[in-house]
Amino acid sequence: MKKVLVIQTGGTIAMQENPETGTVQPNLENPLFSTIQSLSSLASVIVDDFINLPSPHITPKHMLELAQRIQHKTSSEKLDGVVITHGTDTLEETAYFLDLLLDFPIPVIVTGAMRSSNELGSDGPHNLISAVRTAVSPEAYGKGVLVVFNDEIHTAKNVTKTHSSNIATFQSPQYGPIGIVTKKGVDFHHMPLHRDAFNIEKITKNIGLIKVYTGMTDEHIEAFAATTIDGLVIEAFGQGNVPPTIVPSLEKLISRNIPIVLVSRSYSGVVQDTYGYEGGGNHLKKLGVIFTNGLNGQKARLKLMVALETTSSHEELQRYFMK
Ligand code: ASP
Repeated sequence: MKKVLVIQTGGTIAMQENPETGTVQPNLENPLFSTIQSLSSLASVIVDDFINLPSPHITPKHMLELAQRIQHKTSSEKLDGVVITHGTDTLEETAYFLDLLLDFPIPVIVTGAMRSSNELGSDGPHNLISAVRTAVSPEAYGKGVLVVFNDEIHTAKNVTKTHSSNIATFQSPQYGPIGIVTKKGVDFHHMPLHRDAFNIEKITKNIGLIKVYTGMTDEHIEAFAATTIDGLVIEAFGQGNVPPTIVPSLEKLISRNIPIVLVSRSYSGVVQDTYGYEGGGNHLKKLGVIFTNGLNGQKARLKLMVALETTSSHEELQRYFMK
């Protein structure tokens, strides 16, 4: 029987609703206990209670600790798969961070729940079972960190939380899921072509993220510039355009060798150096702004944080972001 490590980090999947107040919160008793026991027919499951946090409390330091814990556990014992339970608010960030760091073919699956354990239609037990079924599937090998949720399998790189409360919240805009979990099995229909593998020991960089808006002035960029910032991600309009009013403050950051990374605030698509007007993508490219290849803002921020631990070369950073 295959051996799967289930690492719990908290989130709604580990919470209960108070029927009197309607609030959802962590509980001392683990509501997944009976589900975990029922997994014995699928795999030999070892449980690791790493932390019990709502996911808005998770930081990149927790993500790094989790990555190191997984690296340690997978090298010290023979595991066939790893499943992580996590709050959905920042699930995509932890999944992507792990994907950037973990460089082995063993399936690593992240899952969670939109409805807490005692709510009607609670999705946690089902998602956990689907995640373990995926972790033991031979086809899940070598596909990087995956998010299994609501019977779909998504790559950590493309998945995002698209709905604040619906159980079908996790979607991969533009690309779709790479597989599905059915009653009979786990079926993959796509294969990711590229995987990153950053070897880092620490996280020391302070990276900001800001979305552009109509009528924006440079005061917020200047406010970032006044902090101990090491890099800034800009969620630009459409194909990668910003209001001309913020261009001088971006130029100032670039002249201080602080990398500016450009993503689109559009739901799908990539940024390109198409428009030559002031603040257009072509203008920003000439100024030395780094372009990305479809990552959303929160993931580009994590990638810049990780990449800056390995290089400060503009060319290398640009290469990393094109993959
Ligand atoms: N706020 C919760 C969290 O991320 C949401 C969830 O888990 O679904 O911890």
